[in-house]
Amino acid sequence: MAKQEFQTEVSQLLQLIVHSLYSHPEIFLRELISNSSDALDKLRHLTLVDDKYKSLVGNGIAPPRIDLELDEEKKTLTLSDTGIGMNEEDLISHLGTIARSGTRNFLAQLSGDARKDSNLIGQFGVGFYSVFMVADKVEVISRKAGEETSYKWTSDGKTGFDIEQVSGPDARNTAGTTVLIHFNEDGAQYANSWRLQETVKKYSNHIAFPIFLTYDKSEWNAEKKESIKTRVTEQVNAASAIWQRPKSELKDDDYKEFYKSLTGDPEDPLFWFHTRAEGTLEYTTLFFIPAKAPLDLYQAEYKGGIKLYVKRVFIMDDSRELLPQYLRFVRGVIDSEDLPLNVSREILQQNKVLTSIKSASVRKILSELKNIAENDQDKYKQFITEYNRPLKEGLYSDYLNRETLLDLVRFKSTKVEGLTSLADAKQRMQPEQKALYYITGGSESMLRNSPLLEIYKKKGIEVLILDDEIDEIVFSSVPTYGETDLKAVNKSTTGDDLKDDSTPEKAEELKPLLEKIKATLGEAVKEVRASSRLADSPSVIVSDEDEPSARMRQMMQAMGQKGIPELVPTLEINPDHEIIRKLLLDPTSSKVEDAAWLLFDQALLLEGVPLKDPATFVQRLNRILNQTI
Ligand code: ADP
Repeated sequence: MAKQEFQTEVSQLLQLIVHSLYSHPEIFLRELISNSSDALDKLRHLTLVDDKYKSLVGNGIAPPRIDLELDEEKKTLTLSDTGIGMNEEDLISHLGTIARSGTRNFLAQLSGDARKDSNLIGQFGVGFYSVFMVADKVEVISRKAGEETSYKWTSDGKTGFDIEQVSGPDARNTAGTTVLIHFNEDGAQYANSWRLQETVKKYSNHIAFPIFLTYDKSEWNAEKKESIKTRVTEQVNAASAIWQRPKSELKDDDYKEFYKSLTGDPEDPLFWFHTRAEGTLEYTTLFFIPAKAPLDLYQAEYKGGIKLYVKRVFIMDDSRELLPQYLRFVRGVIDSEDLPLNVSREILQQNKVLTSIKSASVRKILSELKNIAENDQDKYKQFITEYNRPLKEGLYSDYLNRETLLDLVRFKSTKVEGLTSLADAKQRMQPEQKALYYITGGSESMLRNSPLLEIYKKKGIEVLILDDEIDEIVFSSVPTYGETDLKAVNKSTTGDDLKDDSTPEKAEELKPLLEKIKATLGEAVKEVRASSRLADSPSVIVSDEDEPSARMRQMMQAMGQKGIPELVPTLEINPDHEIIRKLLLDPTSSKVEDAAWLLFDQALLLEGVPLKDPATFVQRLNRILNQTI
């Protein structure tokens, strides 16, 4: 027998699982059953599309089922499936190492709060190891479909595992996996048939395969007048595809229970949309919105969850093919009557049937969300708190549904507490207001205090605060909302429509000062001009309509983009500001030079741009300070 050590991460994970999840040990059963169900799905698919496996049915491949066998006395539970199985290599790599880098995030995110952590377990797919919450020894005997040999993997879940070939009565007659659990003290409570039935019903009722429990049933024998134990095998779960049942037959609890067994999420979903399409294409969809966005939603390894079925046969669960990327938080199933069973991933990408199902599903999901937004604001608020950002990604990528998405996203604003819709902001527009304004490129407090907002505040015009990192990229590609223009206030031409009439005269008066400042700053600025958008601040920088802003440049740089042209902004100064009025008394004096740089540098700082030469900035500041004290 070869003793092998767990990969370091596995040991770490085992430690954490065992120590942080003790209040939810029952999830081990859900995790093992879900692994069996996946293994059965995989094999069923192969037997439908691959002749090699087709020919093995009835001879090496048994009908799909999951069996639980309980020995109350020995305190053991055997869980077997007739699924795809694992060979020696699979056992080592699947049960001895952690391939996915997502697990490292998992380790980092464990909080010690059992409720949150048991949720994480499902999300990061570390399911199998949860068995060590209830076991002090686990044996896995498995035979891979298409192969003859059975292997046994044994571990105490502490340091490592043993692996050996098995034959005789220990070996499996058909493909599949048997997990033999020796319960520890905490797990002993599950060596109880009632407890097992209850747990299977709770988490795995809608697993598409039958789950049987074999146990010693106590029955009253009227003749002998005593209770006798009989070994019985009973089916425990409903094993039906709930999405195929008519809506009228299903209760909220049925949906919730199915959602939990599908996703492993212990919380109820926020809402669900169940649709049956009949007509040129026949299909059923059942989509769920989880109450909380998964923590890894924004990571590359995020594994979403739409499962594709063809006539109730599982085909695949790659959400990237089944819904657009921005809807990756939606969970559920699509079951089509029209696709061939042997569709491959490559074919699916260009398959017209799937393309139509996909676009109809997107429209359906978005219109249902709009419905909720209009009719149940509390629910919608919960939804948008979690999913505003992915919807914004959609604005960028899903041009066809842009108008609907614009109605769904929400914004912070200078006018209302919490979040607002564009429709509401439009309602609040002032008579002279020609566009909906927004500001991007910084943290919320930076944006709220930006000098760029001063004129809008003065005129009572609302500005939307777009402080999400992706806002600038997304909204620079969204020019209008319906008939109304959407304008960024940090662009050079925005705000021109708010100018008051005295601006041209002031420009004349300012000319010598503006020229002096431009001459001082030289190539550092594109232009120096009088501003019509400032009230309390002396200066501000703006960029041209089609140029990335200062903040955007920083992001591009951070993402490693090369060859970004240097920022050469336009400096605007406030002709009514006291400092500027004083400078105007002697606009060509050499004093203006220090002032020019300070006006420019402070405007950069307020935009969140670090100064290139802070030492010189400080010297100038001190020179000026020195003159005033
Ligand atoms: P996950 O199921 O999220 O991948 P697990 O730790 O539960 O994580 O399982 C690891 C891997 O082990 C699975 O991806 C699968 O390849 C394999 N596996 C686990 N249980 C079974 C089983 N009953 N039959 C076949 N393969 C299995």
